[in-house]
Amino acid sequence: MLTRRHHASESGEFLAPTYGTRFFANDLAAFRMPGNGMTPQSAYQIIHDELELDGNPSLNLASFVTTWMEPEAQKLIMENLQKNLVDQSEYPQTGLIQHRVIHMLASLFHAPQDQDVTGTSTIGSSEAILLGLLAHKKKWQNNRKKKGLPSDSPNLVVGGDVHVVWEKFCRYFDVELRTVPLTSDRFVLDVAGALSLVDENTIAVGAVLGTTFTGQVDPVVELNDALEKLFRDKGYFVPIHVDGASGGFLLPFLEPELVWDFRLSHVRSINVSGHKFGLVYPGIGWLLFRDRSDLPDDLVFRVNYLGAEEETYTLNFSSNAAFVIAQYYNLLRLGKKGYKQILENCRENARFFAGKLSESSFFTPIDPSPSLPIVAFSLRAPHAGREMEISSELRKFGWIVPAYTLPPDAQGLSVLRVVVREQVSKNMLEHLLEHLDISSQILKNPSLSVKGSPLVC
Ligand SMILES: *Cc1c(COP(=O)(O)O)cnc(C)c1O
Repeated sequence: MLTRRHHASESGEFLAPTYGTRFFANDLAAFRMPGNGMTPQSAYQIIHDELELDGNPSLNLASFVTTWMEPEAQKLIMENLQKNLVDQSEYPQTGLIQHRVIHMLASLFHAPQDQDVTGTSTIGSSEAILLGLLAHKKKWQNNRKKKGLPSDSPNLVVGGDVHVVWEKFCRYFDVELRTVPLTSDRFVLDVAGALSLVDENTIAVGAVLGTTFTGQVDPVVELNDALEKLFRDKGYFVPIHVDGASGGFLLPFLEPELVWDFRLSHVRSINVSGHKFGLVYPGIGWLLFRDRSDLPDDLVFRVNYLGAEEETYTLNFSSNAAFVIAQYYNLLRLGKKGYKQILENCRENARFFAGKLSESSFFTPIDPSPSLPIVAFSLRAPHAGREMEISSELRKFGWIVPAYTLPPDAQGLSVLRVVVREQVSKNMLEHLLEHLDISSQILKNPSLSVKGSPLVC
C-alpha cells in the first residue's frame, strides 16, 4: 500500500492540477467505455465544460419547463434524490406526501369530494396522457363487451392542436386517431367538427388548455354541452380527457371562474405537468380521475414484494421521489396566493410583450392579450414566412425562441413562440424586444448582419 501510494504521488497523479492531467489533452471516450477510469475531478470538469455548450436554460423561451426553484426546494430535492417513489412501504411518508398532492390537485380541479380521489404522479404529462387515455379505452372496451357489442375498433377524437403524445397514444395502443383540422384562422378545437367525428366507438374526446402551438384554450364547456346532448339523443356517454399540461396549473389561479374541469359532467380525467407551471424541475406530472370508477380495476396492479400491498398505475415502475416532494414543497410554501402572484406576473409580462409586438410594424401576435403566459407571433408582410431566420438571429444573443409552422390546415402560418416562465421578467422581455428589433433590421438589410452581430461588437 505504502509503496503504491508513493508511486502515485511521484507520478504526479495526486498533485497534478485539474487541467494538468492527461485527460484534457487526450481523445475523450465517446462511444466506447474506456478501459480505465479517471479521477472524479477530471470527469466532473470535462463533462461540466462540455455542457457549457448547451443553451442557457434561463434564456430558453422555447420550453415550458421550470428553470428555477427556491434554494430550500433544491435542498429537499438533494436530500431525497436517492429515494425510489415506488417503494412506498420503505418510504411511507413519501407515499403519504404523494397522496396529499393528489388530493390537493383533485380539489383544485373540483373533483367530487364524496368520491374516492384517484390519481397518480407520473414522469410528466406524456405518461399521464397515455395512462388517462388507456383507462378510457379499457373502460369503453369493458362496456362494449358487457353489452355483447364489438370492441375492436376504438377511435379518439381530437383537434389538430393537440400535442404529439396524443398521436403517440393512438399508435402505441392501437386506436384510430380522428383529427379535426385547424383552419387558417382557427387554431383550437372546432366542437361541431369534433361531434361529426364522434360515434359509439369513440373512447374519448381531447381538449387542451394552453395548446403547444399558440397557447390558446380549447372550448371545453361548449364541447361538454355537445357531448351531453349527444348522450341524451343517442345514449352513448363519451368522456373528455383534458390536457392541462400547462393550463392545469394556470387557470385555477388566473381564471378561477372559468369552467373547464371536473365541474363539467363529461370531464373524467385531467393531466397536468408539475414541471411546467407547477413550478417544479423536470420530470413530474399528474393524472387525476374524476372518481375511482373512471379507472378500470383491471389496469391497476397490486404488488406485495416490497413489504406491503401497493397499487400502481404507471408505465414505469421506479421513479424519483424528489420531484413529488418538490411539488409538495411548492404547494405548501406558495399556497394559492403565492401561485397566483407568480403566475399573474407571468401573464402581465406576456401581455406587455404581446402589446409591444402589436405596436411594431414588423411583428404581429396571434393574440394581443393572451389569457395564458404564452405568446405566439408572426412576421407581418412582406416578411411573413421568415420566422426561422429571426429565430437564428436571436440565437446569436443567447435567446432560444423556436419557430415552426402550425399543424394542418393552418400550415401556411409560421410562428415564433415565447413561453413567459417565472424567470422571464419584464426587464428580460425589454431586452428581448430590443434584440427582436435588431434581428428584424438584419432581415430587412442583411449587410447589417456582420456589423450588428453581438458576436462582433
Ligand atoms: C408539454 C405538453 C405535453 C407533454 O408534457 P410533458 O410533461 O412534457 O410530458 C402534452 N400536452 C401539452 C399541451 C403540453 O404543453
